Amino acid sequence: NTSFDVDSNATVLLMGLRRSGKSSICKVVFHNTLPLDTLYLESTTKPTTENFKSLIDLAVIELPGQLNLFEPSLYDYEKLFTSIGALVYVIDSQDEYLSALQNLAVIIKYAVSVNPKIHIEVLIHKIDGLSEDFRLDTQRDIMQRVGDDLLDYGLEGVQISFYLTSIFDHSIYEAFSRIVQKLIYELPALENLLDLLMQYSNFDKVFLFDINSKIYVATDSSPVDIQNYEVCAEFIDVSIDLDGLYECNNQSQQQQQQQQQQQQQQHFVSDTIIDDVNGSNSNNMMDDYDLNKPNKPTKCISRLENGTMLYLHQMIRGLALVAVSRLEDNNETTAISVIDHNVAIFKKSLEKMWENAKFK
Ligand code: GDP
Repeated sequence: NTSFDVDSNATVLLMGLRRSGKSSICKVVFHNTLPLDTLYLESTTKPTTENFKSLIDLAVIELPGQLNLFEPSLYDYEKLFTSIGALVYVIDSQDEYLSALQNLAVIIKYAVSVNPKIHIEVLIHKIDGLSEDFRLDTQRDIMQRVGDDLLDYGLEGVQISFYLTSIFDHSIYEAFSRIVQKLIYELPALENLLDLLMQYSNFDKVFLFDINSKIYVATDSSPVDIQNYEVCAEFIDVSIDLDGLYECNNQSQQQQQQQQQQQQQQHFVSDTIIDDVNGSNSNNMMDDYDLNKPNKPTKCISRLENGTMLYLHQMIRGLALVAVSRLEDNNETTAISVIDHNVAIFKKSLEKMWENAKFK
């Protein structure tokens, strides 16, 4: 038997028929591939596993659609399904999806029979090709049909979450963020800490991002506005790019560069402060950002033209705290010192939490 090397519940199994978009999703979310570059991807023919070290060690296993789930001679499905935390099933909403739904129902039946605690997540994918109205109709139709199928199998109690996704906008990141969050045992404690941080630092929204994938592993308890998400995710890229430019330790040179850089970035920000940057010489910062580099963590503060302040501070394990604040201009320096202080406390709590974590 081929065994899948998984031993943690923080494993996401990605399934779906051929050409439903599984490889594209992996490439776009975890490898920063541009969505259009997935157009000519070879279809998945053998199972692939990707490991991502973030707050939790996440593994995403992609199974090719044409595999027969009930060919036990080929793969040890029972072992696989008992060891995973979430099953993510991708449905191509632009295609005839009836056979996908049949396949999904069979898989759900099997999955819950071997692992009753499994999270079942359904991506109604490629919605960029559907009109607004049609998206909701499609979702309703799919939910109804899946519900009916489960009823036929006597599985009406099974919880399934549905997400409308596309690799051409942020919906796929939002869906993966919510899926991954369900696998983090310490999530309520993290959310609590973020709520406190928000309250004492005058933030409007705060995210704990995984820098490489732009998945947020936690956020405060206020609702997520997709625009806030987009601004914060883009701010990570800007900060990392800027960080990569400062390679000298000399203070005055650094300041000079900083000023030049600020001028160049005028279209995006009106004021940018990069702090604690030295010794980073990665050429390809957009790809895997070297999270284990020994230098001090990156900190970046920026004010958008509409007055919104963005605050980024690198945390442990490839994470960054990114916050949005509509702070008034006049006492900015004091406010930022308070924020820095609070964020330092948050980081210490996060470290402590990590030391004792169940998600290690
Ligand atoms: P797989 O066989 O499930 O791994 O599917 P692929 O990842 O190879 O994707 C099949 C095709 O779907 C590719 O041409 C992708 O460009 C396309 N695709 C994937 N995601 C999306 C999406 O969100 N919207 C649209 N319009 N096309 C997508």
